[in-house]
Amino acid sequence: MFTFNKRIIISLVALFLVVLYLLGCSPKEKSQVVAKSNLKKETKELQSLKVSKEDKTIIPILAYHHIKRNPDNFIAISPEMFEKHLKYLKENGYTTITLDALYNYITKNKPLPEKPVILTFDDGNRNVYLNAVPLLKKYNFKATFFIYPLVIHPKGRSFMSISELKKLHKLGFDVQSHTWSHPYLTKRGGNESGKAYINRIKKELVKSKNWLESTLNKRVEYLAYPFGVYNTEVEKMVLDAGYKLALTIDEGVNIKSTPVTRIKRQIIFKKDTYKNFVDKVTTLPLFVLNLTPKDGEIIYINNPSVSATLQTTKDLNLKTIKMEIDLKKVDIYYNNVTKKISLSKSMQFKKGFHYVTIKARDKNNRLCEASWGFIVKGGGK
Ligand SMILES: [Zn+2]
Repeated sequence: MFTFNKRIIISLVALFLVVLYLLGCSPKEKSQVVAKSNLKKETKELQSLKVSKEDKTIIPILAYHHIKRNPDNFIAISPEMFEKHLKYLKENGYTTITLDALYNYITKNKPLPEKPVILTFDDGNRNVYLNAVPLLKKYNFKATFFIYPLVIHPKGRSFMSISELKKLHKLGFDVQSHTWSHPYLTKRGGNESGKAYINRIKKELVKSKNWLESTLNKRVEYLAYPFGVYNTEVEKMVLDAGYKLALTIDEGVNIKSTPVTRIKRQIIFKKDTYKNFVDKVTTLPLFVLNLTPKDGEIIYINNPSVSATLQTTKDLNLKTIKMEIDLKKVDIYYNNVTKKISLSKSMQFKKGFHYVTIKARDKNNRLCEASWGFIVKGGGK
């Protein structure tokens, strides 16, 4: 009995092995094919990721406020310094483009010149009209002016007059909206109901757009957030009001995947040296993941953790990584394994909008920047 069984078992095992061998090849090959096609798919995805990561077209947008002799506030520069900027752009092959061109590139993939740059001027200061406009004309540069009509009077003093605004438009410069009265769009008044707040913000967005459109007889579709503040609720209202792009003052440069309501700009400060300016124009995007808090998020505690993870450290000089919150350097902890950058200790935040920038130099010493903003409401919902 035992021998018989053993023989049967041996035969069955042999038969099983033969069958397995015969059948085996086919599934094995099939799995190889599947693996191969997966690999192909993955490689393809990786390649497309790589292409988007290495997006060759980088669009810096500069944000100026005052151009005047003896610059007397932190966002004023002299006409001489301003001309140095224009000279740099010209000599280094930059082409000034319009916001239309940026919008068409982001949404319709319409190509841009090789080294595009956008010049913007906020608030409608008269010194810009008097000192910057002649230089822009001299260099034959395009520029966009963000105006809040509340301060535009028929005669004009520290701000441009209506006729100057019309002249600006006639000269071929782009005039766009900076809301009606320059409020913090994310800030609800103490006694204001949710509904009253929404109506007020809608009015700020629509009234300015309508006034500029009828005064200048042109389309107004771009907005610069006053003080650069925004949140997801405001972004939605901006799109609903008919704007196609909205510009922040989050530091860094734009690429094809930059969200249309979070266009980055480099503010030019009085304290900026010529080298700082060159850094701002030549900045590269720094690719980060897991932004905490999220971009445009409203936070109801006053000590949120602030962190982000580098997507890649390739070509970066890791010793140069730093984080700035509201333009001030903060102490950070960088984890070499997870590539996570976080605050080294808990921080108390005031109510309001906070700007976060992560900066690092690449191995060619070029500045790379990632930035985002969040709102601290504090005191619970
Ligand atoms: Zn402003």
